[in-house]
Amino acid sequence: MRPEDLLCPSPKGLYCPAGDFHVDPVRVVPRAVITHGHSDHARAGHGRVLATRETLDLMALRLGPNFAAAQEALDYGTPVEIGGVTVSLHPAGHVLGSAQVRLEKDGLVIVVSGDYKDVPDPTCTPFEPVRCHVFVSEATFGLPVFRHPDAAAEVDKLLASVALFPERTHLLGAYSLGKAQRLMALIRQRGYAAALHLHGALAPITDYYASRGLDFGLLEPVADTHRKALPGAIVIAPPMAMTDLWARGFADPITCFASGWMRVRARARQRGVELPLVVSDHADWDGLTASIRATGCEELWVTHGAEDALVHWAQSRQIRARPLRLVAPVGDDGADRSDA
Ligand SMILES: [Zn+2]
Ligand SMILES: [Zn+2]
Repeated sequence: MRPEDLLCPSPKGLYCPAGDFHVDPVRVVPRAVITHGHSDHARAGHGRVLATRETLDLMALRLGPNFAAAQEALDYGTPVEIGGVTVSLHPAGHVLGSAQVRLEKDGLVIVVSGDYKDVPDPTCTPFEPVRCHVFVSEATFGLPVFRHPDAAAEVDKLLASVALFPERTHLLGAYSLGKAQRLMALIRQRGYAAALHLHGALAPITDYYASRGLDFGLLEPVADTHRKALPGAIVIAPPMAMTDLWARGFADPITCFASGWMRVRARARQRGVELPLVVSDHADWDGLTASIRATGCEELWVTHGAEDALVHWAQSRQIRARPLRLVAPVGDDGADRSDA
């Protein structure tokens, strides 16, 4: 069997001809396997969706309970047969429930990474390298310039600033699925015990994380209007809210933003971010190359980001490699993706 018979790019996304299903399709399809709940991977309207329990629940929260005609939950590491293809899900370490998809038929194994990171995250199961012949890797930070610092040390910068400016509000922008909850968990791990104040849009997903056993300590909702200026508080909000009317009225706020893109100073300046925190839920260059090596793959397909540098890196190590330029609606996968 050729790899293309097991998986190939199509206008609707990655398609498995042997099993007649798509992985993270960008258009509505009869049958989809979904890696995780972020909107550029998980869309509404498919016929049948196979994913982890957590991903299905998060999709229901974001897209409504009827986001697909049929939903099938699959635990990590449990194989199922779809049209003669053995499919299993394996932890991707990206956000709660995130999975790599392993496909096997006639001895050929292909793994689709989805989004992943190989560093510890208290809010999700650690990334697990899966042996395969062909590895399909994301490349959001696929340039050697991207080396993420230790996330705990970045959170310490925030807490040091809070200690230094006890009369000012620290307004922290963080993507609402995954990043915000990881920051809350890290802030608690670093010993900050006061209440964390949350924008209302973060509540449903944060409550869901809590229902899966995560403890974020004392959380206080921030009212939309007539609210207090909250001097000295940490207020966490989704990126969109940072520039809204909502963000006005805090006590001489210090604008903070947590993203791998904060490594690029111009981006931080562009967004008016005074305290950039380089915290990413995607692997950096070292993480990508180490994870690719750990799969033992003979062939690498690169998607979602800076493909060329990783393709070149792989080829220089005798791994066949090519970019997979998937068709994605404009805006979904641009360089400024806020889940990064
Ligand atoms: Zn993602
Ligand atoms: Zn993504």
